[in-house]
Amino acid sequence: MRHTRQTGERRKALALLEVENLTVSFPTADGVVRAVRGVSFNVDTGQTLGIVGESGSGKTVLTQTLLGLTPGGDVTGKAMFDGTDLLQLSPNQMRQVRGSRIAVIFQDPLTSLHPLYRVGWQIAEMIRAHEKGVTKKQAHERAIEMLGRVGIPHPAQRVNDYPHQFSGGMRQRAMIAMALSLSPKLIIADEPTTALDATVQAQILDLLLNLQRESGTALIMITHDLGVVADIADGVLVMYAGRAAEKGSKRDIFYQPHHPYTKGLLESIPNSSAAADRLRPIPGQPPSLINLPSGCKFHPRCAYVMDRCLIEEPELRQIRDFSHLSACYLPAAAAGVGGAAEQIREESVREGRTGAAVEVAEAIAASPEVQ
Ligand code: SF4
Repeated sequence: MRHTRQTGERRKALALLEVENLTVSFPTADGVVRAVRGVSFNVDTGQTLGIVGESGSGKTVLTQTLLGLTPGGDVTGKAMFDGTDLLQLSPNQMRQVRGSRIAVIFQDPLTSLHPLYRVGWQIAEMIRAHEKGVTKKQAHERAIEMLGRVGIPHPAQRVNDYPHQFSGGMRQRAMIAMALSLSPKLIIADEPTTALDATVQAQILDLLLNLQRESGTALIMITHDLGVVADIADGVLVMYAGRAAEKGSKRDIFYQPHHPYTKGLLESIPNSSAAADRLRPIPGQPPSLINLPSGCKFHPRCAYVMDRCLIEEPELRQIRDFSHLSACYLPAAAAGVGGAAEQIREESVREGRTGAAVEVAEAIAASPEVQ
């Protein structure tokens, strides 16, 4: 994601998906749920964007809104996909896009596949629903071919299996086969490996990446686990409380994280090379999207909280170059994981925490996760 301003502008002009200032809220009996609050991002053809955040950060609502799957939500903003604003499509028009031009892979393939229909039949039906003129036989043959492409052994036989006859990993492969069967321009994978064990997870991520390279499809990978995007993403969008906390290239996010939430996510990744080190969970819980805290929404959990953070919500601003942005008041020079960056953070906190933030910081330091 790092490049010169000129190439960046050219890329922006060519981006397959350009989401601009998207907001989504849901009126409920308890108040308005502000699920997504002004999020913007681009995804280019052939690129992978990782959208990372804890449950309740708005990442799933964000992408479901792009697919017209948030009925009852108040939606504003723009989502230009291949020249069309997805947010302006009628339900019928959206049905033409969903599945064929934008495919989705959900977390739990067992609930996404119908238990009473054969796996191959479900893939073939989707092909026939979107491609008029394809015969049952042709669709069945395509289903076999797709199952073979995603590594299902003996696809000509397994095409007639029911979902319960497939293992968890095979079911997710079948979902990927279904997603790719119409050659979509964009795949949205929503926690596609969360329900799988670690070795199958690695196989599925490899498979997705290889297929994406072969077909040049763009991929949005939604996950709560920064470790999942480490190998596959080009760019990363870190979300917190419905907003972008930090955006940048994979290198920016992994080696030069600026936002304390990103740093917290990195420190909570289990790392076999540092198995002896204690994992450091982020203290506290994500906020209620109905009653958001004042100022920076991360302040009740932030070890670097300063007085200013309690009053005013920081906007995204440039950190190292124009593609690395963070919504945090710490100085840009505080990006990084080493001692020098930590020293800059500590100096800022010494100057900036003189009043109300002292009490908040003491409460964070006393929380059980920090002990
Ligand atoms: Fe922490 Fe303040 Fe930065 Fe928010 S703005 S992440 S509270 S330092």
